[in-house]
Amino acid sequence: MSSEATPGRKIKELEVMVADVITETPDTTTLVLFTGNDRLDYAAGHFLTIDPHQFDALERFLAFLEDLKGRKEPPRAYSMSSAPHERYLAVTVKEERYISGTTKFPPLLSPLLVRRTLRGMRLVVTGFTGPYTMPTDITSQTDHAVHICAGSGSVPNFSMLKYALEHHPSLRHSFVYSNKEWKDVIYRDALADLSTKHPGRLRVIHTLTREEDKSVYGPNVRRGRVAIDLLRETIPDPSACMVFVCGPGISKWDHEAAAKAGTKAAPRFLESVLADLKELGVPARRIKREFYG
Ligand SMILES: Cc1cc2nc3c(=O)[nH]c(=O)nc-3n(C[C@H](O)[C@H](O)[C@H](O)COP(=O)(O)OP(=O)(O)OC[C@H]3O[C@@H](n4cnc5c(N)ncnc54)[C@H](O)[C@@H]3O)c2cc1C
Repeated sequence: MSSEATPGRKIKELEVMVADVITETPDTTTLVLFTGNDRLDYAAGHFLTIDPHQFDALERFLAFLEDLKGRKEPPRAYSMSSAPHERYLAVTVKEERYISGTTKFPPLLSPLLVRRTLRGMRLVVTGFTGPYTMPTDITSQTDHAVHICAGSGSVPNFSMLKYALEHHPSLRHSFVYSNKEWKDVIYRDALADLSTKHPGRLRVIHTLTREEDKSVYGPNVRRGRVAIDLLRETIPDPSACMVFVCGPGISKWDHEAAAKAGTKAAPRFLESVLADLKELGVPARRIKREFYG
């Protein structure tokens, strides 16, 4: 199956069955979805959407939130963590938290998907689409793909990485992955296994902002945020590599709150990485980004 979007491909609704529920980290779950005989026509990096209105358990909460917000709750997007050549479709969902005084509303769908979705449950998903994919001719443009992710931003990159390791043998990958603590690292073992399986083709560098345990740190597990020095080290070829950045950025809610306070929203992961890439001289056309608000 091709990783590339087929021209004329139609977005369609699929009824899927949850074939497996994998706990990745304390707040993140992978849902492996069985799709029957439906042809899975998606590219690595694409997402599907899930409409919260299909869940009886959310009915009252949804009605209440819609009254409060004065609008219908839209479907939520989830990138595929599976790759197109794999047998099952999978998404990986990180639970959003309600933080008193910070978040305006309790998150609607991710707590249900992470905590209350069981094997055998049926879901309706709509897919597949999205602009965050590797160019089909990537190997004619570079031999080095740089993935820079934070939190659940690793999901589409994990799919792209698996697909490219399988289908683009001349491509090397650097995977820079930021999390708070070591226990928060999604696909930790899977990434380590891929580096072992593809020697010389994948380098994974973790960076942790709040890990107190000194024993986890080492050459490939750094302390702090993704900063320009780490990017400089990872990208010796700024004008020749291709970079794929995915993670939290300034949301429209952040912009609204800042405007109300008469300030400007502070840069988040995405804005700060994009500013550093610019400073390093990576041309804008060599950067693809996906924003998780
Ligand atoms: C292309 C794309 C791909 C994505 N892929 C993934 C993925 O692979 N894995 C993953 O875990 N997530 C992914 N996401 C994020 C996901 O779509 C959801 O946004 C996330 O799961 C939170 O949904 P929720 O219903 O739990 O929270 P929501 O109910 O959407 O709330 C989230 C936050 O927004 C605030 N908020 C909501 N409505 C308002 C409002 N009207 N005014 C002010 N603040 C508001 C809430 O207070 C809360 O802080 C992706 C997003 C995009 C755009």
